[in-house]
Amino acid sequence: MKTRSLTCIGCPMGCPLKVELNNGKVLKVTGNSCPIGIEYAKKECTNPKRIVTSSVFVEEGEVDILPVKTKEDIPKNKIFDCIKSLKGIVVKAPVEIGDIIVKDVLGTGVDIIATRSIHKK
Ligand code: SF4
Repeated sequence: MKTRSLTCIGCPMGCPLKVELNNGKVLKVTGNSCPIGIEYAKKECTNPKRIVTSSVFVEEGEVDILPVKTKEDIPKNKIFDCIKSLKGIVVKAPVEIGDIIVKDVLGTGVDIIATRSIHKK
């Protein structure tokens, strides 16, 4: 049996979690103050995922950089490749918040979307 220590990222309380694992299976979670901590610990120990934030270049916009993010979590082991895949992407203004910048990034089924609007200059 293995024990892992995690900090729950479900809310600013950041509860310190202790997870008991056996062959990759979560047996027990302690330290959580609510059920979200249990779900977070299970996910983190079996299929860790994250929202990824980054930026791409903008042409003809009031600013040159557009902040973007994955619309949903993607597997943690794809974060680096996801950021790498955004290198060299240039979009043309205008851009609206929520516009899809990259569809189905790395075949994850998750889109990269704009997190702000940028008008034409
Ligand atoms: S276990 Fe619940 S209360 Fe504690 S950090 Fe996670 S979400 Fe917040």
